[in-house]
Amino acid sequence: MKVFSPHNKQLCLVGGGHSHVTVIRQLAAKPLAGIHVTLVSPDIFTPYSGMLPGLIAGHYSHRDCHIDLQRLCRSAGIQFIRDIVQRINPGPRELYCAQHPPIKYDLLSINIGSQPAIDNILGANTFGHTIKPVNNFLHHWQQWLEFHAKSKQKQHIVVVGGGAAGVEVLLAMHYRLQSTTSINAAFTLICSDNTILPSHNPAVQEFFSRHFLSLNIRIIKNSFVKSIDSQQLHLMNDSSVNYDFTVWAIHAGAQTWPAMSGLKCDDHGFIEVDQFLRSTSHPGIFAAGDTAAFTSRNLPKAGVYAVRQGPVLLNNILAEFKQQPLVPFKPQQRFLSLLTTGGRHAVASRGSIFFQGKWVWYWKNHIDQNFMNRFKP
Ligand SMILES: Cc1cc2nc3c(=O)[nH]c(=O)nc-3n(C[C@H](O)[C@H](O)[C@H](O)COP(=O)(O)OP(=O)(O)OC[C@H]3O[C@@H](n4cnc5c(N)ncnc54)[C@H](O)[C@@H]3O)c2cc1C
Repeated sequence: MKVFSPHNKQLCLVGGGHSHVTVIRQLAAKPLAGIHVTLVSPDIFTPYSGMLPGLIAGHYSHRDCHIDLQRLCRSAGIQFIRDIVQRINPGPRELYCAQHPPIKYDLLSINIGSQPAIDNILGANTFGHTIKPVNNFLHHWQQWLEFHAKSKQKQHIVVVGGGAAGVEVLLAMHYRLQSTTSINAAFTLICSDNTILPSHNPAVQEFFSRHFLSLNIRIIKNSFVKSIDSQQLHLMNDSSVNYDFTVWAIHAGAQTWPAMSGLKCDDHGFIEVDQFLRSTSHPGIFAAGDTAAFTSRNLPKAGVYAVRQGPVLLNNILAEFKQQPLVPFKPQQRFLSLLTTGGRHAVASRGSIFFQGKWVWYWKNHIDQNFMNRFKP
């Protein structure tokens, strides 16, 4: 087989998500000849999602669970552009950022994650805080903590979304207030299903329901929030819930620019990719992580998949440059979730498997620290 060697080619990576950090780390170990690589990211420090509840709870520092993209890029000889991509033009192969001139590319890879889909909830863009972008959320949470540090008035924190992110974030916030502040707060979780953690097994659901009860945390089930104003969340059944701080942790939504740039997207706006992580409409564009709609199989939006797609993504980008065969991404059927309960305690969930304990938290901590250590100098 004839092997082409790339020469003066431009690879552009959009977003410093879990897949791209894996790609960049591999490039640092084995730099590419003949390919100039650029990463565009609005953040210098990108968060590792598995440790976020621990950061909110106060177990970790910001540095513990963020990867320094600028430094990582430097170590791999990659150009880092701090900006946000707003549009691409696949014809002339250009991408357009908020503050930089257009960037030319030969191959493009998009790993921009997702954000809670709040656009259909009246007022949600103005009131409350989405859990993503994570750095915005952490900023608002920190501000709120500082503002209320000396307050004697009882506060009401409401988290909307009964999946793993909503449950873990609520318990982390609860732990933080109880363990290191004198802020007096009541908590409520609103979920649209008849149980919290609907994608987990009954034993996990039961454990967390009891845990919430023991902490006096109210769960409002089977409820959709239809709107929010400066004081209240309004539910579909016409009841209202007062709040002082609201967190949106509902199902994932997509950015609009990929679809508006002409990339084929699914009904929710996520970029349709084939088994090789290539756009189904534009083979010179790859997408991975939450932003990709993997057409071979419906995948949950989880960092686990984003991380595992990294090596396949890099392999296929190189293969595309060299005009060699691509390899398919083969997702595992199930993955182990280690869900934290606020303190240094966690629950393991996989299919029908359930176990819990402090040791599960330390096990998770070990896995997470190992992951982060790969990105340290
Ligand atoms: C609290 C919480 C806990 C979680 N825990 C887990 C867990 O334990 N295990 C698990 O598997 N999943 C977990 N998840 C889900 C996980 O966060 C996501 O599935 C994962 O982050 C997706 O990774 P990604 O690589 O697609 O994108 P992300 O990691 O979200 O990264 C996207 C990056 O793209 C950048 N970006 C965004 N828009 C643009 C743009 N227009 N131009 C340029 N750059 C852009 C962002 O700044 C960001 O750095 C958790 C989520 C939350 C909220």
